[in-house]
Order: sequence, then structure tokens, then C-alpha cells
Amino acid sequence: MDFALTADEQAFAAEVKRFLVEHPPERFAADGMDAGYGSGAHSRPFLRALAEQGWLSMTWPKTFGGHERPMFFKLVLMEELARAGAPFGPLPGCWQTADAIIEYGSERLRSQVLREIARGEATFWQGFSEPGAGSDLLALKTEARRDGDEYVIRGHKIWSSHAGISRYGLVFARTSREARRSRGFSMFVVPNGTTGMDIRPIRSLTGDVYHYEVFLDDVRVPAEQRLGPEGEGFVALLNGLDSDRFWGRFYKAPALERVLHQLVEYANSTMVRGAPLARDPLVRRRLAGAAVDVAALRTLFYRVACLLRDGAPITYETALAKVLADETGQKIARLGMDLLGLWGPLRAGSPWAKLDGQIAHLYQTTLGHTIAGGTNEVLRTTVAVRGLGLPAAR
Ligand SMILES: Cc1cc2nc3c(=O)[nH]c(=O)nc-3n(C[C@H](O)[C@H](O)[C@H](O)COP(=O)(O)OP(=O)(O)OC[C@H]3O[C@@H](n4cnc5c(N)ncnc54)[C@H](O)[C@@H]3O)c2cc1C
Repeated sequence: MDFALTADEQAFAAEVKRFLVEHPPERFAADGMDAGYGSGAHSRPFLRALAEQGWLSMTWPKTFGGHERPMFFKLVLMEELARAGAPFGPLPGCWQTADAIIEYGSERLRSQVLREIARGEATFWQGFSEPGAGSDLLALKTEARRDGDEYVIRGHKIWSSHAGISRYGLVFARTSREARRSRGFSMFVVPNGTTGMDIRPIRSLTGDVYHYEVFLDDVRVPAEQRLGPEGEGFVALLNGLDSDRFWGRFYKAPALERVLHQLVEYANSTMVRGAPLARDPLVRRRLAGAAVDVAALRTLFYRVACLLRDGAPITYETALAKVLADETGQKIARLGMDLLGLWGPLRAGSPWAKLDGQIAHLYQTTLGHTIAGGTNEVLRTTVAVRGLGLPAAR
């Protein structure tokens, strides 16, 4: 496997770098908190700026308005944005939803929602988890009942990231009680603001709002808003989760590399008892260890990217990559807190906060990352059963 960029990819990386100089990320207003790496905040204006370059739809087939550029262009774009700390948060969700619509969507979704994605107008929240259904998602209670050309959705979703600031929800609901367990579910693209939808914020550990709970009280959606055939929503969901584990985390290696450089700079410039912190053998050892972790993470994601590009079957690889990505994030956040010592917990806004309080934010947000998108305990089971061939637990 050769991970070196082709000449075209290198030229594209240079184009993205130029774009970032002309559009400094810090000038774009963020409308939602970042994912915890000092990057990835939601910013509609930044998304529109990316769309103006044609980058949101660049890999789509020409029949859907795309340019059929190779998938690796998306990796190049994301890496450059993450390295620059740009607010590209909605990007993975837009790409995932576009792929699902191209594969399973009705003509209505293809003509309307794809166009909105390409223009940087549509962003999405995922309505999967419920108060009684997380790891065991098929225990969910939300129901979608067919009524003529419409479905009537009734239920309660929770932990839906960015639901309050997105344009559409991807709502996973039961459409049959009779069908075999995994075949009785469907996925719907539901516009925010539809009558009967009530979105309420949940304040997180950082004090910001990242999650929402969503009450669906007889929400009516046209049948054409369903993704794929009725009852086949589980396939769309699994593809979506795989895609989420990959695209929602690919940026972590470059984003963590950025954090690591900040910590190296801090260790070099902070004097402790007359010598730079960077002279402390333990500090040097841990920083070097973090560099190894980030390099391994990047290589693993590139390997999974090659499998995806080549259409190889993915069984446990995205689970493996997600486990490493989110645990590496937590490890580097802990390293940052240790280096900053008593300054570490001070948040942005405090006159004494170091590194703009980003490390405290990183530490608090990364705690949830090993839960989001499937907990690392559950994903280790996937690796054990599908990757190692161990028997499933009873
Ligand atoms: C930052 C963040 C963002 C999120 N964003 C979204 C979102 O946008 N949309 C959405 O729908 N949901 C979202 N979630 C919810 C997330 O998908 C669920 O929290 C997750 O699937 C776990 O479900 P649960 O919280 O119900 O915990 P439970 O499933 O009740 O699990 C509780 C504990 O038991 C363990 N456990 C459960 N089953 C097993 C098992 N079979 N084997 C071993 N251990 C097990 C788990 O690992 C966990 O430690 C988000 C969560 C977080 C933290």
C-alpha cells in the first residue's frame, strides 16, 4: 500500500492551502461548539465557502452534479482543514448523507437535498439513540406509521448532536412490528421545523450545547423522504455508522497533530525551576509517545481509506480505527492536562488560561468520544468477533 499523494492530490492540497490563506478560518463565525480538537466547529458561512469551491460535491457522479474526483481528494481536503483548525464540523455528516441519498434516495431527495448539500445549505443531525435504546439500538420505540403518501412519526430521540442548528434530521424509526427484528426499520430525512417536532437543548460538561433531545409528536413526512425501501433502513444505518466512524474521525490524526505541536511549543517555552519543561525526561518521553500514537493513527486511517477506495469488504476495520482514534484523543488530552498542571482546568476566558483554555475543552469533550457512534466496549466486541473470530458473548 502506497500512502504517498499522487501529483493531482498534491496539487489539490496546494489549492486547499491557498484557499485557507485567502479565507482565514478564524474569520468565520461558528454556530456550534467544536468537537474538542480546536477544530471541527459548526460554521455555516465556512461550509458555504467550501461549497463555492465545488468541494462538497466533488466526488459525486456527474449525473448528480459532481465532478467524479477520486475519494482521496476528500481525505486531502479534510487533512488540510484539520491542520489549519478550520470549522468544518458539518462536513462528514454532509458527505455521509449525500452518499446515502445517491445510493438509496428518491428522486425528490436527489433533486432537492443533494442540491442543498452541494451549495453548503443543508446540514444534518442523526436521530438514532433514544432514552431506552443506545448500544441496543433495535430496542428503539419511535414508530413511523404509513398513512397514504405520508408517514406519521411518533417518538423521542436523545443525544442528537447539533439537532438544533441543522436543517434536517436522519430519523431511524420502526415501520413494522411483524418483520424480522432488523428488517422492520426505516430511515427518514425529516426537515427541522416540521409540525410536531420539538427540539430541546441539553447542556454538556463544557457548559456549551452540543446535544439535543427531539420529541416527535405525529410528525408527517412524505414517503419520498424515506431513504431506501421500507424496512431496509438497518442497512442504511449500518453503512451510515461505518461511514461516521471513518469520516467522522479521519480528521483526528491531523487535528491531534496540531494539538501536539501546541504542547511541544508550550514545553519548549515554559520555564520550570530555571529550565524549559521540555528538558524533563518524562515530558519528552510522553510527547514522543504521543507522536508515535498520532503517526500510527494516521497510518491506520489511510489503510482503511485504501480498503474503502478499493471497495474491499469492511467488517471490523472502522471499529478498530474508531477505538484507536478516540482513545488517542483522550490520551493526548490527559497529557495536555498533565503538562499544564494547575493551569490546565482553566477555561477560555480566564485571564490565566494557557493555550486559550483549549486543553480543558479537549479534555472534557473527548470523554464522550468513546461513547459516541457506538461505545468502545461494544466496538471491541466487533473487533473480537469479526476481526479475531472469537465467539460472540452470550
Ligand atoms: C458526544 C456524543 C455524541 C453523540 N451523538 C449522537 C447523535 O448525533 N445521534 C444519536 O442518535 N446518538 C448520539 N449519541 C448517543 C450515543 O450513540 C449513545 O450514547 C451510545 O450508543 C451508547 O448508548 P447509551 O448512552 O444508551 O448507553 P448504553 O447502551 O446504555 O450503555 C451503557 C454502558 O454499557 C455498556 N454496554 C452496553 N451494551 C454492551 C454490550 N453488549 N457489551 C459490552 N458493554 C455494553 C456500554 O459500553 C456503556 O459503557 C452521542 C453520544 C455522545 C457521548
